[in-house]
Amino acid sequence: MHKSSQNKNNQNKKQVQRCTLLSIKTGGCPEDCGYCSQSSKWSSDTGTKAERLMDLEPVYEAALRAREAGSTRFCMGAAWRGPSQAGPRQWARVLGMVKQIRALGMEVCTTLGMLTAEQARELREAGLTAYNHNLDTSPEYYGQITTTRKYADRLATLETVREAGISVCAGGIIGLGEGAKDRVGLLLQLATLPAHPESVPINRLVAVKGTPIAAKQAAEAADKAAAAEKAAEKAAAAAANAGPLRPGTRAAAAAALGLPADDDTDAAADAGGGGDGGPTGLDLVRCVATARVVMPQTVVRLSAGRMGLSVGDQALAFFAGANSIFDGDKLLTTANNDRGEDAAMFEALGLRSRPAFVPYGAGGPTSSGGGMGGGHGGMSGGGGAAFGEAVSAGEASRLLERAAAEAAADEAQRGGGGCCGGAKKQQQASAGGGGGGGCC
Ligand code: SF4
Repeated sequence: MHKSSQNKNNQNKKQVQRCTLLSIKTGGCPEDCGYCSQSSKWSSDTGTKAERLMDLEPVYEAALRAREAGSTRFCMGAAWRGPSQAGPRQWARVLGMVKQIRALGMEVCTTLGMLTAEQARELREAGLTAYNHNLDTSPEYYGQITTTRKYADRLATLETVREAGISVCAGGIIGLGEGAKDRVGLLLQLATLPAHPESVPINRLVAVKGTPIAAKQAAEAADKAAAAEKAAEKAAAAAANAGPLRPGTRAAAAAALGLPADDDTDAAADAGGGGDGGPTGLDLVRCVATARVVMPQTVVRLSAGRMGLSVGDQALAFFAGANSIFDGDKLLTTANNDRGEDAAMFEALGLRSRPAFVPYGAGGPTSSGGGMGGGHGGMSGGGGAAFGEAVSAGEASRLLERAAAEAAADEAQRGGGGCCGGAKKQQQASAGGGGGGGCC
């Protein structure tokens, strides 16, 4: 946290970009990402219906509304393996959306799946600012999440995007059942790409009922609840036998009741288990802080899963280096924070909306409207010149390897999985809950 807060640009540390994400083609995706409600593989369980690509007009109107509400970046997601599965008329419509929304003076980002070089070039010519393609997790854990594509496919699309001169948006999700090493592994992968992504969204999964990951996490939660109930019954029986307890005899009383002598509630929460066993707000903050340290000039986006965060947790995330949020009613298919509450939070924390096209400091020459990157850039989204020294790929790798070793030691001590800074294993999801609607 200390290092990450030092890396915050003194001039821009109160600037937080508001972005809006719209699903322009929902459901019916042929991929099998285990967390995603939009996959056709389990649509009968999630109830997500395959819809057609939206018309240009309602998308344009949504972008106008977003701009009026203070968003400076408009992101459009389509549940495709890639645009190659769409017909030429649909593709032309997507390019038209990019062109018209860019003309509104907004940054435009799309997330459409795997791209060919030709498609990337056409998007670039239409005026696309950024292309989102999340790596989700570490290369080692990726096979647990999806089987219909490989990590190498993701990296190839990122390279295609970079070569087309489009800025790169690539991040991941915590709460997929991954361990601490995987969270570190994701950041290691991102921080050691040939150029740092200009934008790194950090998402926290709130599992959607009907997806395989939600089912697995719900089963684990049920096992844990059953074990807790058993332990409570045992403690109650012991209490009945122990009779009245005397003040000042906590250790002896705890031993009589079969409970731990010390109150380790805070430590447990800190270790990564929220009330529902999913990643806590602090887990998210740790990931943001780590991303900020190893990619000092990148825009780190506090993305899906923000709904359950307190204003205090969000303030910590901004302090740790987050400089963007997604606002609006929905994130693809799932609920998002209320715009009015976000406005109140901005007011309370003294945050200012970041304008569009502040040049990037990370990455390479892009369609961002001016920034040149590679760590030598001018002002940046994440920080730029005043953001502290850039971390080289080698240094990032060393930092992350050290973090992984520390996390593994923490994990071993706590007997669980965890977070970037060390935490215990993911256990469950709020099956039936909101977020995590898929990110191609
Ligand atoms: S995350 Fe994207 S690619 Fe994966 S199933 Fe969902 S919509 Fe398809």
